Amino acid sequence: MLGAISYMAHYAISKEPAVQYMKLFDTHAHIGLIHEDPIEQLIVAKEAKQEGVDGILSICNNLYDFFEVYENLKTADNVYHSVGVSPSEVTNPGRDWELKLEEGVQRDRVVAIGEIGLDYYRKFGDKDSQIELFIRQLELADRLGYPVVIHNREAGRDVLEILQEKLPSQGGVLHCYSEDWEYAQEALELNLFISFAGNVTYRNARNLHETARNMPLERMVVESESPFMVPSAYRGKRNRPAYLVEIVKFITELRNESLEDVAATLYQNSLRLFGLESR
Ligand SMILES: [Zn+2]
Repeated sequence: MLGAISYMAHYAISKEPAVQYMKLFDTHAHIGLIHEDPIEQLIVAKEAKQEGVDGILSICNNLYDFFEVYENLKTADNVYHSVGVSPSEVTNPGRDWELKLEEGVQRDRVVAIGEIGLDYYRKFGDKDSQIELFIRQLELADRLGYPVVIHNREAGRDVLEILQEKLPSQGGVLHCYSEDWEYAQEALELNLFISFAGNVTYRNARNLHETARNMPLERMVVESESPFMVPSAYRGKRNRPAYLVEIVKFITELRNESLEDVAATLYQNSLRLFGLESR
């Protein structure tokens, strides 16, 4: 733990450039929320690639802007997409949302359904309608053969119980992991992937440090969750996929493993999660 803290202090002072031969995969970025401007969105993808971020999953914010962001990023060769209805949209998912989702998911480079899940923190709609929307999309993902990107905020127990019944055969990822090590062990029994965001680099995030240190690396992936959750090395800045390497460095230090090995495994895990192994 002390090692991790002094490591953070070190990187706050001297930020070394990302190692160019190291490939990273950002499994969760809201590129459409970082910038509205299509040119700026392409710059985000390009700048990330220069920092080794060879894959980015652009997360659908809602079905209204999914198709727009998709078109904007069409020429970015490191960008993949998810499509889905997040719990924040529960009171207004849009007419024919299931048809739109099915239309979206069939597009080239759309590799997951998400983010979907439960959010009891912000109390969108009521619990029952969130649960119904979540289950319907899990069933849809199973029928269509896609993995799911799962959002959980203060709804850990319900999320896990629903997944124990309804996890699609293609599996999924618990994004922006925020539970403890005990919870992770239950999730790992379902063969879920666990994704760490910038909050793992926060000094007081002991539950996350313990989980990242103990869990098998084969089930771990990382994400920027940009524009949110900026790693502590960039505190005060608006988050971007290009900062992802800070999370990998931090986890490497926690686990006392080599940066190259950890990065390579995380990258392969991401390809496996999204069915991109042949790439
Ligand atoms: Zn998100």
